[in-house]
Amino acid sequence: MTDIEVVLGDITAEDVDAIVTAANESLLGGGGVDGAIHRAAGPGLARAGGALAPCDPGDAKATPAFALDPPVRHVIHTVGPVWEGGTYGEDDTLASCYRRSLEVADELGASSVAFPAIATGVYGFPPERAARIAVAAIRATPTRVQRVRLVAFDEDARDLLLDALKG
Ligand code: ADP
Repeated sequence: MTDIEVVLGDITAEDVDAIVTAANESLLGGGGVDGAIHRAAGPGLARAGGALAPCDPGDAKATPAFALDPPVRHVIHTVGPVWEGGTYGEDDTLASCYRRSLEVADELGASSVAFPAIATGVYGFPPERAARIAVAAIRATPTRVQRVRLVAFDEDARDLLLDALKG
């Protein structure tokens, strides 16, 4: 049984086995949460990501966590959908990000994983819809991950995730 927790804060401070980043297809680092994770992990992360790139939207690939503080051992890079109005498969692509990230976490043997609110920043996915999809996709994915932490960066995002968890 996977326990889903919603927390407010900076994902780079999470005490988990693996942190998921909202990457772009190059896996070289970007803005937002991806920029914060790359800054905390150091330049090895972009080198390792670049060697695995490209990563398609909805897919996920893992690298070591480099200078991120233990117990974080892995960064799982997933590429969200760019929101184009909702009729281009964005919902399915976002659900796939969560599903594939958990599959990769299983391959790594990670028992705790922290996710940001993928695609809800620069990629423009409506946050309430994204929160519902995140929770539903995690619940629908069979996984050995015991603890999933959904990390909201502001109180509005946290409240949307808490509502989705209740629903
Ligand atoms: P995307 O390009 O997938 O939209 P962004 O990084 O622009 O990714 O935004 C995704 C979410 O991550 C946003 O809700 C943003 O507020 C949040 N975010 C930004 N920095 C951090 C951080 N350090 N920790 C957790 N969440 C963050």
